[in-house]
Amino acid sequence: VNRRTVGTFTVSKVLVTFGGEDPANLTVPAARYFAGAGYSVTAILPEKKRPSEPLENITFIEPVVNLKETLYKYDLVVTHYGLTAFEANSAGCAVILAATSRLHEKLSKSYGFCTLSRKQLELPFDASLFSDVSKLFPPCAASGVENRSLGDYIKNLAHGARFECPVCKNSGKSAEKEKSPEEPDEIVARTEFRTFRRCRSCGIIYMSWSIKSEAADYGKSYFSEQYKNQYGKTYLEDFEFIKKSCGRRVMELNSTLRIAHYAKPAVLDIGCAYGPFLSAANDKGWQVFGTDIAEDAVSYVQNTLLFPAVCAPFPEFDSAVSFGINQFDAVTMWYVIEHFSDLAPVLTKVSSLLKKGGMFAFSTPSGQGVSAKLNRQHFFEESPADHYTIWEPSRAGKILQQFGFQIVKTVSTGHHAERFPQVKAHGWEKTSLPFKMYQTASRLCRMGDTFEVYCRKVK
Ligand SMILES: [Zn+2]
Repeated sequence: VNRRTVGTFTVSKVLVTFGGEDPANLTVPAARYFAGAGYSVTAILPEKKRPSEPLENITFIEPVVNLKETLYKYDLVVTHYGLTAFEANSAGCAVILAATSRLHEKLSKSYGFCTLSRKQLELPFDASLFSDVSKLFPPCAASGVENRSLGDYIKNLAHGARFECPVCKNSGKSAEKEKSPEEPDEIVARTEFRTFRRCRSCGIIYMSWSIKSEAADYGKSYFSEQYKNQYGKTYLEDFEFIKKSCGRRVMELNSTLRIAHYAKPAVLDIGCAYGPFLSAANDKGWQVFGTDIAEDAVSYVQNTLLFPAVCAPFPEFDSAVSFGINQFDAVTMWYVIEHFSDLAPVLTKVSSLLKKGGMFAFSTPSGQGVSAKLNRQHFFEESPADHYTIWEPSRAGKILQQFGFQIVKTVSTGHHAERFPQVKAHGWEKTSLPFKMYQTASRLCRMGDTFEVYCRKVK
């Protein structure tokens, strides 16, 4: 509400604030930097963190309630990237940011803020900082430039959604967490739009906050336009190729399933899409059933492939009603498990749909593949907004065990030698020997960007 009256701009009063805690200890260096040049500096810092000697031109004050309404009293606000920066900009103050991390620096610059590094704060005051005043009032923060106005930014923040660990939140095993609810899980990655944490109870990596909370639409465009944008052709155009890799998965299932050779085992494919896996399993003598929430895909399976399929959400789906079958020899989910924001009921239902000794098989992106290991920030930036969990081969066993499954086999898939830095740097061709060596190394070290899990219902 309170804004500076706009007139000729001169700096005399400077506010330095890095939040109540100031974990990066930037308040004192930043206050000294401007005080040294003769400006009158007010610095927000709790008493216990202040230097014992008084400093010339610096007045320390305690954290201020409703700070945003007092910002207008200052000519210049020095802070880090965050809401205060936008509020100060909106209040008509000049803003200079100090970078607490490389991510903060990137974010500050992308909104056009003038940014000082910690190193610069240790040097004598640089008067050229104030030579181009327009840099202290980045227009993209206050008014719409490239759709990045303050209003849009705040609106986006308001649309953000928080998520708990999908495995633990409804598993009845969150007692450990309830003991100390104030202590959040460790952050493994933070991108402009999302935060990822590792659950300290079950070990899975999950999306704990996302700016985009609209429910994903798995309608026709998910498999046509959207799919084509990502892979260059539609799902149906890709059908035979996908089916080929499904054939290998059926062989894996055959080798792990202990069934009498005369039986015709039954498999339920959850998230069957247009049915490439059902088709491959049918070719190899399985009795196949599919479910998906995409109507167009299910009607293709029913009317073109002629397999039993239902359009139903999981885990609400009722197998006895839909297929007259209570339990299957195998249940499969190919690139589906990461889409559930609530996994405990899903895994419990999968178990109930399996005969004892039956197999549950799924595939998912790997949090331990070459992309996740060697280009971690990019991996999390690229993780789709509707992926709630990121599984890691080394931690999957412990999680599945909670639901009565024992891993029989994991297969590392999606090998991309071209994603290794050395291969990238040399530009080795796919047919070259070094490329092939990296491809082999990726297989041996299980560095694929995706993986498959085959586990048995033991309990
Ligand atoms: Zn958990």
